[in-house]
Amino acid sequence: MNKQAVRLIQFFWCLLLPCAIGAAVASPFPGVAREHTSFIDYDIQVRIDPETRLLEGKSIIRFNKTRDHVLKLAAQFEVTHAVIDDIPFEPETVEDQSHVWQIPYAILRPYQVEIHWRGKLHALDETLDHEQTLGRPVAVSGMAGTFLPDASNWYPRITSGLFHYTVQIELPSGQRGLVAGRLIDEQDTDAGYQARFAFMHPAEGIDLMAGPYVITSENYTGIQGAPIQLRTYFHPQISALAGDYLAAVKRYFKLYEAWIGAYPFSEFSIVSSPTPTGFGMPTLTYLGINVLQLPFIKDTSLGHEVLHNWWGNAVYPDYRSGNWSEGLTTFMADYTYKEQEGEDAAREMRLSWLRDFAALEPGQDEPLAAFTSRTHGASKITGYHKSAMLFFMLRDLIGEDMFNRAIQGIWGMQRFKVTAWPHLQSAFEIISTRDLQAFFDQWLHRTGAPDLAITDVKQEAAESGYRLHITLTQSEPPYQLRVPVAVQTASGEETHLLDVQHAEQTFVVAVNDKAQSVILDPDIRLFRHLAPGEAPPILREVMVNPAAATIVLSDDDATKQIAATLAEKLQRRTSQMLSANQSVPAVPALIIGLHHEIDAWLEARGLPAKPDEVSGKGTAQAWTLNGPEGSALAIVSAQDTASLESLIRPLPHYGRQSYIVFDGRQAVERGVWPVKLQRVEIP
Ligand SMILES: [Zn+2]
Repeated sequence: MNKQAVRLIQFFWCLLLPCAIGAAVASPFPGVAREHTSFIDYDIQVRIDPETRLLEGKSIIRFNKTRDHVLKLAAQFEVTHAVIDDIPFEPETVEDQSHVWQIPYAILRPYQVEIHWRGKLHALDETLDHEQTLGRPVAVSGMAGTFLPDASNWYPRITSGLFHYTVQIELPSGQRGLVAGRLIDEQDTDAGYQARFAFMHPAEGIDLMAGPYVITSENYTGIQGAPIQLRTYFHPQISALAGDYLAAVKRYFKLYEAWIGAYPFSEFSIVSSPTPTGFGMPTLTYLGINVLQLPFIKDTSLGHEVLHNWWGNAVYPDYRSGNWSEGLTTFMADYTYKEQEGEDAAREMRLSWLRDFAALEPGQDEPLAAFTSRTHGASKITGYHKSAMLFFMLRDLIGEDMFNRAIQGIWGMQRFKVTAWPHLQSAFEIISTRDLQAFFDQWLHRTGAPDLAITDVKQEAAESGYRLHITLTQSEPPYQLRVPVAVQTASGEETHLLDVQHAEQTFVVAVNDKAQSVILDPDIRLFRHLAPGEAPPILREVMVNPAAATIVLSDDDATKQIAATLAEKLQRRTSQMLSANQSVPAVPALIIGLHHEIDAWLEARGLPAKPDEVSGKGTAQAWTLNGPEGSALAIVSAQDTASLESLIRPLPHYGRQSYIVFDGRQAVERGVWPVKLQRVEIP
């Protein structure tokens, strides 16, 4: 697959796919401690014919303690039998025509409800995208796939409460299916497919998947000797990928079992979906065929989904006090893979988080404690990136050994329990024997980030070597930070950690050689606002900023029209057009023209000419620079109208670049301008 297509879909993945952790994300039950409520046993037998889309089901639900409960079944089904302890138990029909059973609190002993139901599932629509699939909890079926999300009420669903379940699935020959849980038995013959699953941890719901799957199984022995069955349920056209995916899963199991503790379930499956979706549930992940075909998925997103079987699906976030599981998973998966690649890649990821944070508009930011699940791009920046950075800074503060021991402690104490940020805090405090109240308070409950600067450096000769007086300032109210400061001397560079508590503070640092310059946080180890100019602009800054305008330099009508369409695609709105004759705007702006028009415009306004990274290359180029008033400018320069038109589809997917060169529609070179660290030279 060419690079352009990969980037295009990766963008889609990053922006649209929530790594939804099963029903936990769709329907959290605040206030319910899961470990104490698993007194319902739910048994289902279901037969599905994807050709006719008919579903026939039988539920037996045993309530072992009394509490009022509501069961709900979607309107499309007909109830053929319903009893409670063998007494007829007719459902009510509510406003949306669903069938509802209210189970009264008054029953004072264990009781059993049995319901038989049947009906036709909706047709599978393979043209739906991920957002549409998420937004419509509809039970769909077809020869290419069946997906019965819990929220569609495809079975008489317990609307609040947790339960253990067993599910028996029957499908015609050639089709195979599963739900989350342990595979108890399985028969695959010419007469059809039958499988039985049990999920013996507290569950919030049941999602069922089926399709014309080719099953590939491998056995894995867990760190404590337990057998774990790894499987792919892949559509025939991608079944050749099974081996690579299973090998990748084994790698992740090795990593996380050693790092955290034994995998908590007895199976893990990767299941392909005919629609471009992506869900993670306990014991499985359900990913679109097109997603699974991307070569980088098994090295990135797959590991993230596997790790959710520890954080999210085994240690449950407490949504009332914020979801910590995405941040910890991002830190121990996505970010860790960058650290394995090397320090440069890891630093680049931290920097990209700060750049994205800097591009947030006022009002888009929210405290980390308010994050529950990803609903839009801004919530990802907080709930995934700022949260991952919290764990990174915590590891810097208490050391890797203490950090890992605390992680194992949390796993040991909180498995299958609802866990809040304060549980995590106390585990890190107990293991490290440090008071971390201020640390967690400032990162969980405040919006924003510190604005740090070195405002003064003085140097004096000491009896041996030199003394530096370094003044650091930050905005009020001050954060408590351990700020890395690099001191450069003729013989090298040494890093000092300065514990900052106040808005302005001067530190005295002894150095052996005469210092030449001092650099603030050179490795980007703090979550902070980047200083103006510290991170040169990326294309996204003129794309997302609602104040950004556009200048089209061409006079030719056809070129102007194409430029306007390009601007609209980049900014996802009708762009505000400014005159080509005016001076450089003070707002972020997109400047579009042909090569000679761009060159003349830059020269007339005293701006730097086309940079070497793009000059003379390809058929069209885009790059960013800061205007005289500091606002970001993105220049798009094409050799002719056709080359400009070729950018309309691909260019919007390259917002994270500072410069890019296209040959037709193909991106041939791209990059990000290097960071300009906050450096103070010492005379
Ligand atoms: Zn996730």
